[in-house]
Amino acid sequence: MGSLMSPFLLLDEMGPVDYAPGKAVGAPWHPHRGFETVTYLLQGEMEHEDSSGAKGTLTPGDVQWMTAGKGIIHSEMPTSKMMLEGGMMHGFQIWVNLPAKDKMMNPRYQDISASESPIAQEDGVWARVVAGECLGVESSIDTVIPITYVHVKMEQGSTLIKALDRDLNGMLYVFKGEIEVEGKSVSDGSLALLSNGTTVQVNATQESEFLILAGPEIGEPIARYGPFVMNTREEIIQAIEDYQNGILA
Ligand code: MN
Repeated sequence: MGSLMSPFLLLDEMGPVDYAPGKAVGAPWHPHRGFETVTYLLQGEMEHEDSSGAKGTLTPGDVQWMTAGKGIIHSEMPTSKMMLEGGMMHGFQIWVNLPAKDKMMNPRYQDISASESPIAQEDGVWARVVAGECLGVESSIDTVIPITYVHVKMEQGSTLIKALDRDLNGMLYVFKGEIEVEGKSVSDGSLALLSNGTTVQVNATQESEFLILAGPEIGEPIARYGPFVMNTREEIIQAIEDYQNGILA
């Protein structure tokens, strides 16, 4: 998927894929400037490392919220065990844009392990609250702009009511089963954009799993080139020069 809906620039589903021994792939050292990358792993093992010295292994349920800000150089690879032995990999990486005033902020890295991550449970609904709030449970992540990011599992026939702030853009991405939301049926592999300012009611017509994502309309021009997301072409050229001159991070 390419550009999504403000403030989300990308929603990349990694897998699910069953790697043969020696076949797992990742993203070796690469730069970022002007936005955030959020990695959430469901299956497999990855090693993340960046130029700020932050380093961590992600296992299922772990989240890495990386704010590139003015610049970071990033490596995201399967663990050496995963490279050697292969195995199942499944997860998501989303890119969250930053407003102009925060694009050049100092880089920041937040790692939330599965065991520290807030979980809400109620009447056939399970929800990991990566960011924002769901069923009265609040995330521990500090986001630059207000973001809701919830992983929901629902038993067939269950219902979830989720209020979204009036000024947030919201969407659901279903990756298992089928749900009904705002009178539409949304099945595995599909994205539903939500109306603004609604209380969302989700009915699980099958056992289902999906992400809820919401955030504000940034309303600024986007200049994007590979791993750099700025407001103007001049700022992109500056980012490339800074990277080439070794002063991006
Ligand atoms: Mn990256």
